[in-house]
This record gives sequence, structure tokens and C-alpha cells, in this order.
Amino acid sequence: MNAVRGLLDFIARLVQDHRPDDLVACMDFDWRPGWRVELIPTYKAHRVAEEAPGGEGVDQEEVPDTLSPQVPVIDAVLDAVGIARVGAADHEADDVIGTLADRATGPVDIVTGDRDLFQLVDDGRRARVLYPVKGVGTLLLVDEAALREKYGVDGPGYADLALLRGDPSDGLPGVPGIGEKTAAKLLAAHGDLAGIMAAVDDPASKLTPSQRKRLDEARAYVAVAPKVVRVARDVPLPAFDPALPRRPRDPRALGELEERWGLGGSLRRLLSTLEG
Ligand code: MN
Ligand code: MN
Repeated sequence: MNAVRGLLDFIARLVQDHRPDDLVACMDFDWRPGWRVELIPTYKAHRVAEEAPGGEGVDQEEVPDTLSPQVPVIDAVLDAVGIARVGAADHEADDVIGTLADRATGPVDIVTGDRDLFQLVDDGRRARVLYPVKGVGTLLLVDEAALREKYGVDGPGYADLALLRGDPSDGLPGVPGIGEKTAAKLLAAHGDLAGIMAAVDDPASKLTPSQRKRLDEARAYVAVAPKVVRVARDVPLPAFDPALPRRPRDPRALGELEERWGLGGSLRRLLSTLEG
């Protein structure tokens, strides 16, 4: 139950350092939605193979999967503590996060190791990402200044940058020959993806011949990729209470989970941090 204890320690630290009013655990009800795969068949395709080790193949090593049995325990512990868990059918956690960030009226900290969520960074709306570096010991604060410094784009520009550059970790091909630096330059010169594609059609625009050719050849990809790369902002969500509890919602269930899985120290630390 290392993942369970690790998560409890992580949440305790987060609450200690940031004292949020609300805290929501956003769940992947579908980590690879069919509607994204239909648009870009390679989307997360390599991870399907990774997530199904063994099988019929004789060459594949049996990798013991220690994480998945812990997920139901994580769910049960969060529910018993009273930390909201929210997911949506046919959607990734990314889309739930996008929807919650859009609904929020106050500042939002998105805690994620997934760079896709950089597209939600918005200084004007006080939305930023806390990105774990070196394991989960340190959280890097990602605001628009950090994005400009590292990628040369602002928050909304990050989705266009990722789309053009591609993202091997998600099986997103990108536009061949357009790397991160070129993508950032094109975005700076033409504003956004639509501006870049308008420049392709404009013989007077300042694209190099090879950029023009590459973007022109990638039209089919550029047409469908935004729906894949941009997180949804309007996913229907069930009713839930985002308020961070001071006391466990279901102490009896929590006691049983603690005993059964030996969560002692980590759980106690979290509960005393919540009581604050
Ligand atoms: Mn993602
Ligand atoms: Mn990703």
C-alpha cells in the first residue's frame, strides 16, 4: 500500500503548504477516450501495449502490477476522509480539471505531473500549475512567466505549441519538421494556430518555403488535433462538495481501512493537518 500512503503524505503536505478551501481529486474515468482516438489513432496507442503486459506474447516479461490493486483503496480512503473525487464518463481527468478550472471564481492551483494542463495556466484568472519535480518532493510553480521562459508561449498558447511540436508521451505526432523552438517562433509571429494556418495560405507571409510545405502537408492533422489536444471545459459533472473537510466524513470506515491496510502514520498526519 505504498501508493496509498504516498498519496496521503502528498495531500497532507499540499494542505499544509497551501491551505486550500476546496480540494478535488480529478479521476480518469477514461484515460484514452474513443472520441480522441477516432481523431488521432496513435493517441496513447503505445501505452495500451505497455498497460497490458504478459498476454499471449512469450517474450514479454511479467511485470507485477502493484499499483492497480491500490486504486480502489485510494478511492475508499478519499471517500471516507471526505475529499471529493470527481470524474466524467468518456473523459480524462484533464477534461474534469479543465471544466473545474473554467467554473472556478477564485484562484486555482492544478496539481499535476501532466504538462498537458499547462494550457490552463492563466494569470488573469489566477490559474496556475503546481508541477512535481524530483519525485514529488518539490512542486514547481508554473505561471505564465514560467511558460514564457521555458517554452516562449503563454498558457493558452501551450496547447498550440504541443499540437505543432507533438508529444511522444501521448502518441501525438505533431507537424513533422516543426520542433518546439520553431513552433514557439511561429506562434510568436502569427498569434495562434489559426494565424499560422492563415499564413500558409497567404503567399506574402513570412514563412520559409519548408515551413510552408510542412504545414500545408499537415492540414489534415491540424484540422483534428485541437479537439484531441485541448482539454474539454464543459464536461457534465455530478454534484459534489469540494470543501476540504476538517474531520473525516466516515470515521468508522476510515478506521477499518486504516487497520486493514496499515495506513497508520500517513493517515494520522493527514487528519491532523486537516484539523489544522
Ligand atoms: Mn493528459
Ligand atoms: Mn500528457
